[in-house]
Amino acid sequence: MPRSAAEYINSVRDGRVVYYRGKRVDDITTHPIIGIAVRHAADLFDVKNRLYDDPNYGRISRYFKVPRNTNDLLERYKLIYEDTLRFDGLFNIVQAIGSDALFSLMIVARKVDRKYGTNYYDRVMKYYEYVVKNDLAIAVAQTDVKGNRAKRPPHEQEDRDMYLRVVEVRDDGIVVNGAKIHTTQGGPVANEVIVLPYRAMVEGDRDYAVAFAVPANTKGLKFIVRPVLEYDGNPNAVNAASRFEVESLTIFDHVFVPWDRVFMFREWDLAGQLAWTFATYHRFTAISYRAATANLYLGAALYAARLMGLRMHHTLGIGWFR
Ligand SMILES: Cc1cc2nc3c(=O)[nH]c(=O)nc-3n(C[C@H](O)[C@H](O)[C@H](O)COP(=O)(O)OP(=O)(O)OC[C@H]3O[C@@H](n4cnc5c(N)ncnc54)[C@H](O)[C@@H]3O)c2cc1C
Repeated sequence: MPRSAAEYINSVRDGRVVYYRGKRVDDITTHPIIGIAVRHAADLFDVKNRLYDDPNYGRISRYFKVPRNTNDLLERYKLIYEDTLRFDGLFNIVQAIGSDALFSLMIVARKVDRKYGTNYYDRVMKYYEYVVKNDLAIAVAQTDVKGNRAKRPPHEQEDRDMYLRVVEVRDDGIVVNGAKIHTTQGGPVANEVIVLPYRAMVEGDRDYAVAFAVPANTKGLKFIVRPVLEYDGNPNAVNAASRFEVESLTIFDHVFVPWDRVFMFREWDLAGQLAWTFATYHRFTAISYRAATANLYLGAALYAARLMGLRMHHTLGIGWFR
């Protein structure tokens, strides 16, 4: 069922473990800093014309429409562009980044299944259905903390938890350990976190070749939110006083993932493809919202120039004169 802003806000009061400046946050929706990011995310759910009628899934968010041709991509571009303008130049990532991850999983899961006889595609589609029907907000945790950058294959790190990895295999699922960084609107604000591998891997990295999804309040998951310095402690904040997105260091401390939520497990030779396919979809999202941001900056510059009595020098094409 499509959700309202209020329903989304209620859904993130679920006991998740969030820290801000060293203190545990009991209710992110009323927290003076994270609450602003919650309200920004919530605004997406109240956008008019946010939904469309999908032939298979009914009335769902346009962000989850799988792009199948150039027209679909142009529509997605327009959706992201217009929402960015709607929210004062700050993109609303909570359904875009998750759909980027789901689209890439749909493609790569099929490849893994063909090569290894696994059933990841069915799992991904079942999870996709759960996400679209419940109109969820999703974060993507891909970037590992990485440790020593001079060592490329994850298994060569001295501290084996520098990249997220599988530490236990059980009948009902896997247990993972590690930490991801820069998780935008990560757990603090999302309902679910999709985890993807960060880079191409070698055979020794098998335990690091893992993709899965967990609810944000899963046991062992902790979100350490980066202080929002653009607002917190900045009395001159203008736009940031009403909107920003938080990002987290996302810690997985022996987190259990049931098999139906595991989308890659030790298929190390396709980890790089998954990382790259997600990044390609996500670059498309990023250039769409950055085009809107660029237009706002250009508009503001033009407005300021006009206020100062400057006119564009048309004959030269560039430069200004009074
Ligand atoms: C606004 C923003 C939002 C983001 N959102 C998300 C998100 O939602 N989810 C997510 O998973 N990630 C996210 N990221 C993370 C982003 O993908 C990473 O920042 C990026 O992959 C770089 O990783 P890093 O920050 O660890 O930098 P590093 O890997 O530490 O790189 C730092 C610098 O060192 C250089 N370098 C690295 N390794 C070497 C080497 N071996 N030799 C020489 N030079 C090297 C790099 O080229 C770079 O210049 C986000 C980042 C930004 C800026």
